[in-house]
Amino acid sequence: MGLVVQKYGGSSVADAEGIKRVAKRIVDAKKNGNQVVVVVSAMGDTTDELIDLAEQVSPIPAGREFDMLLTAGERISMALLAMAIKNLGHEAQSFTGSQAGVITDSVHNKARIIDVTPGRIRTALDEGNIAIVAGFQGVSQDKKDITTLGRGGSDTTAVALAAALDAEVCEIYTDVDGVFTADPRVVKKARKIDWISFEDMLELAASGSKVLLHRCVEYARRYNIPIHVRSSFSGLRGTWVSNEPQGDQQVEHAIISGVAHDVSEAKITVVGVPDKPGEAAAIFRTIANAEVNIDMVVQNVSAASTGLTDISFTLPKSEGRKAIDALERNRATIGFESLRYDDQIAKISLVGAGMKTNPGVTAGFFEALSDAGVNIELISTSEIRISVVTRADDVIEAVRAVHTAFGLDSDSDEAVVYGGTGR
Ligand code: ASP
Ligand code: MG
Repeated sequence: MGLVVQKYGGSSVADAEGIKRVAKRIVDAKKNGNQVVVVVSAMGDTTDELIDLAEQVSPIPAGREFDMLLTAGERISMALLAMAIKNLGHEAQSFTGSQAGVITDSVHNKARIIDVTPGRIRTALDEGNIAIVAGFQGVSQDKKDITTLGRGGSDTTAVALAAALDAEVCEIYTDVDGVFTADPRVVKKARKIDWISFEDMLELAASGSKVLLHRCVEYARRYNIPIHVRSSFSGLRGTWVSNEPQGDQQVEHAIISGVAHDVSEAKITVVGVPDKPGEAAAIFRTIANAEVNIDMVVQNVSAASTGLTDISFTLPKSEGRKAIDALERNRATIGFESLRYDDQIAKISLVGAGMKTNPGVTAGFFEALSDAGVNIELISTSEIRISVVTRADDVIEAVRAVHTAFGLDSDSDEAVVYGGTGR
């Protein structure tokens, strides 16, 4: 008998009907002879609503209580799902993250899983139950407080349980049919990918693709757990994410896996930095001390006559205030002239391991942007990715142009978005 872990996202269990539909799918998997562990997210936009509520009560809620509140969302859906399964005549038991043995560090709101001890889940399975586990939560090893794993963390719960239980596959059910060559909400002609490597998937997730969280893919790669991303709204086969393609999984896009975009970043330009050793170090030490993560960095050529240069970098918009404040406080010691903050930017990335060995990908990317009249502000590359920063207004046009230029457009309209508000 095989063991499968299935994860259902918030849009799949948005209401009572959704919960009953999902319950049927779960029962089918069990009837097919599998032991089934289900990880479930909070219904619809519950997590956002709980966050709004907390902010009305306190502008900066205490981390411990905030986590206690947010985990309530997943507890509602897990209990309802277990009831719906029992109603179909099958045995099911629900478990909180803590009961399921998800042990984390004690960083509230973005805890990391450090161990999974799924003894109670094993017992429940051995007794013939379907085990339902609340996603996105755990218990801290030292203080035994309830923690959450950060937004979208249920995917990570699912992969971590799959690893600890030695599951054959971790199925991630969502509101689209799999991983697409671009965000199907933006590119109607996006193509569903049959198989993608962990490596390319990690790069897409880091570049703004929201279908799978970076941390979840990292975990799956570390423990070599194949992920099958598919829709809970259709019966279609989805996208396999693994080390190597298996069986009839097709490797269609050998050179390019896809185009990702990200509008969540801002750009800071430090203007008039003395062109001498130690300046970049001072700027980025200041940023690091403020615990801000940065993405791209570009230093312009110094205008020889002035001896001054400009340094630009990108960072999450949510960290913008912190970074600007930290730099302003250290302006005298670092010695720059002024700061410019710009949050009207977008990052567009082309990802694919094939670009390592195929010359011309970078040129083709820039040509597609230029043909679409899109101006490039910053450029960064890795071995298997090229990213540019453009104006936010240009993002949709740019993504579509690049998608077409690299022959990724599908002939049919297979990119269906079944649910989710995208909130
Ligand atoms: N409910 C949580 C969120 O909305 C966790 C998840 O959906 O994975 O972020
Ligand atoms: Mg959610």
